[in-house]
Amino acid sequence: MKYDVVVVGAGPAGSVTARFAAEQGAKVLIIERRKEIGVPVLCGEGVSRRIDNWGMLEGKRWIASNMEGARIYSPDGTMVKLSADLAGNETGYVIYRDIFDQELARQAAKAGAKIMMNTNAIGLLKDNNKITGVKAKQFDDELDIEADIVVAADGVESKVGQWAGINTRLDPKDLETCCQYTLTNIDCKDAYCDFYLGKKIAPGGYVWVFPKGKDVANVGIGVLANLSEAGMPKKLLDNFIANDPRLKNGNPIRFLAGAVPVAKPVETVRDNLLLVGDAARQVDPITGGGLTHCLEGGKIAGETIGMAVEKQQFDQETLSVYETGWKEAFGKKLKRNYMVKEIVLGFEDKTLNMLADSLKDFKFEEISTLALVKALVLKHPTLLMKLRPLMKISSEV
Ligand SMILES: Cc1cc2nc3c(=O)[nH]c(=O)nc-3n(C[C@H](O)[C@H](O)[C@H](O)COP(=O)(O)OP(=O)(O)OC[C@H]3O[C@@H](n4cnc5c(N)ncnc54)[C@H](O)[C@@H]3O)c2cc1C
Repeated sequence: MKYDVVVVGAGPAGSVTARFAAEQGAKVLIIERRKEIGVPVLCGEGVSRRIDNWGMLEGKRWIASNMEGARIYSPDGTMVKLSADLAGNETGYVIYRDIFDQELARQAAKAGAKIMMNTNAIGLLKDNNKITGVKAKQFDDELDIEADIVVAADGVESKVGQWAGINTRLDPKDLETCCQYTLTNIDCKDAYCDFYLGKKIAPGGYVWVFPKGKDVANVGIGVLANLSEAGMPKKLLDNFIANDPRLKNGNPIRFLAGAVPVAKPVETVRDNLLLVGDAARQVDPITGGGLTHCLEGGKIAGETIGMAVEKQQFDQETLSVYETGWKEAFGKKLKRNYMVKEIVLGFEDKTLNMLADSLKDFKFEEISTLALVKALVLKHPTLLMKLRPLMKISSEV
């Protein structure tokens, strides 16, 4: 088997990369180890409406509900409300992630990419250290799939990058351990994604409630791995649900557990190799949202591959157009938000309460960053010292 490109993983990053590479004329194969694309769902299913900007998803079947915005609750229950435009990567739509992933794969197939299911990548093919394809297993058969370019789109547990010698190891302080129920028989009439912060609620993370309808929502938790222990996220989530009047009578129709990298991105290009999506750690380190970056980064990766295939040049320098492109598109944001994450993790609950108290009546749409800082400090002058490192970041990055 010989292709221009073999993409490992039919998640959003892999399918979008495959689609744009195929549209540029590349001969593309996607291999996916699962039996069904997008299943099981491992996601809170919240996504920014920025996703519409790229026009990659046809129809509306993948949308479960439209959100007006986000409400962020500090440890003492003070609420800050943000409109959907300002609420970051995870607020705008709550989606059906299985349909979403399948729609992106359908678009890749429509563009000409071939998809092989039940096919697990088990190593790289190499010729004198040059990557020449992927070794895979489909049922009991071992396959050698030759390709000029291999795309690592194999998610948070990515092995492909490691096989190529890239350090993709995740430090526990850069990994959120998560679990989530989809609860039904609850009261979820408001179209808001809710986020709950606090060291006792979710150490180094947050609890989320993302409504999928009037009586159904994804209710999940992320806890930073270095602050967690076996079973802790589920215990904290169960406790949260039992004490929330809206949720306590709910019944689960789905449970999932998974991990989100909240790390700095890794090297994303080598000779004959690209890393995209969670495999490249292109996740917002503050919110843990990765879907918008899969679409934005995947498109740049696919177009770069198209250009490389046309030139028949597959070296790191040619492929680095992708790395430059995604860094321009959202690299600065990832870098800044990683630094912000590190600082905010050091905040005591008391500081988060003061922040929320200063911001609860703030009209975010109308005022400048300077006015925002003034508003914060006017109410709680001691915040100035705590926020100084954050202000330094916003002036540097
Ligand atoms: C609990 C949880 C909640 C989340 N909530 C949100 C949210 O609300 N909003 C948001 O934007 N992001 C969220 N995320 C993050 C988001 O799910 C990821 O950023 C996104 O799935 C990354 O897409 P991807 O294509 O890079 O990887 P994935 O979606 O993980 O896809 C990787 C694919 O590769 C396949 N694969 C892996 N190894 C191999 C192999 N060896 N051979 C063949 N196939 C292989 C896998 O089966 C999988 O299909 C959440 C994540 C978790 C765990």
